[in-house]
Amino acid sequence: MITVLSGGTGTPKLLQGLKEIIDPSELTIIVNTLENDYFAGVYVSADIDTVLYTMSDLINDELWYGIKDDTFITHERLEEIGCPELLRIGDKDRATKIQKTLLMEKYDLTRACEIQAKNMGLECRVIPMSNENSDIKIVTDMGELEFHDFLIKHRSEPEVLDVKFSKVSPAEGIIDAINNSDAVIIGPSNPVTSISPILSLEGVREALKNTFVVAISPIIGSGAVSGPANKFMNALGVEVSAAGVASMYSDFLDMMVIDAKDDDKKIKVNQIINKVIVTNTIMNNLDAKKNLAKIIIENIP
Ligand code: GDP
Repeated sequence: MITVLSGGTGTPKLLQGLKEIIDPSELTIIVNTLENDYFAGVYVSADIDTVLYTMSDLINDELWYGIKDDTFITHERLEEIGCPELLRIGDKDRATKIQKTLLMEKYDLTRACEIQAKNMGLECRVIPMSNENSDIKIVTDMGELEFHDFLIKHRSEPEVLDVKFSKVSPAEGIIDAINNSDAVIIGPSNPVTSISPILSLEGVREALKNTFVVAISPIIGSGAVSGPANKFMNALGVEVSAAGVASMYSDFLDMMVIDAKDDDKKIKVNQIINKVIVTNTIMNNLDAKKNLAKIIIENIP
């Protein structure tokens, strides 16, 4: 059994490769829920839906958000009637979100995801990190902003001074999944807003210390491949580099995968983590995703 810790862009790319080379029934994916909230009356768990769509081949993998070839009739109509929504939710994607919202009238998020994963024919397990909603604030030079306001309304432009989020309880099954795994893969996801929330759950870091853990750096050189990870790391006083990412996981990490372009930084990462693999980590096509997944799996003892 392999457990993957995931956000909603970098790690799903790796999942596309992983599901081609190992039996999906061998995969448990623990997904970040930090940004979950209600929008236009529906519960939006963007990272979970991205993982569900990735594993069922429905994902719009240009945006890493929503379903491919979706239409936006409801979104446009909402705007026409004076009820614009911050997130651009597609019609089919909205159906998933409505279903989840309805399921959550009866069940917790974990069970709602389990039902949706089953409906989509998935053999892997997709577990939200928590059934509780987090309160996340991006502290900027414009004041404290809600996460989606920072990301979408302000296009991640303000200077970030701090990232604050409330502590929530782990969803049932997370610690067991880690304990029962041969290895845990921390995908190349935002270390501050996708991975740290999972690591902050009670018992997670302790469980990871007793399991083989490999992480793939989402930072190449001194920048993120996409998104605001560099701004967030900077704000927390962490060096924006593969070594900076390694330092955030150093108390439990066994192996770090860094990009071939960072070959000159291997020595520095090696001072933090014993085993460092240098390879191409840019996943811009299926072959690159499969190759990276294969190298990771081959290096798990
Ligand atoms: P979010 O939930 O949309 O923020 O997505 P994630 O946290 O899963 O992923 C965002 C991170 O993925 C960013 O920090 C990117 O640098 C990283 N990323 C995206 N694509 C790639 C890739 O092809 N290779 C690597 N190494 N990192 C990537």
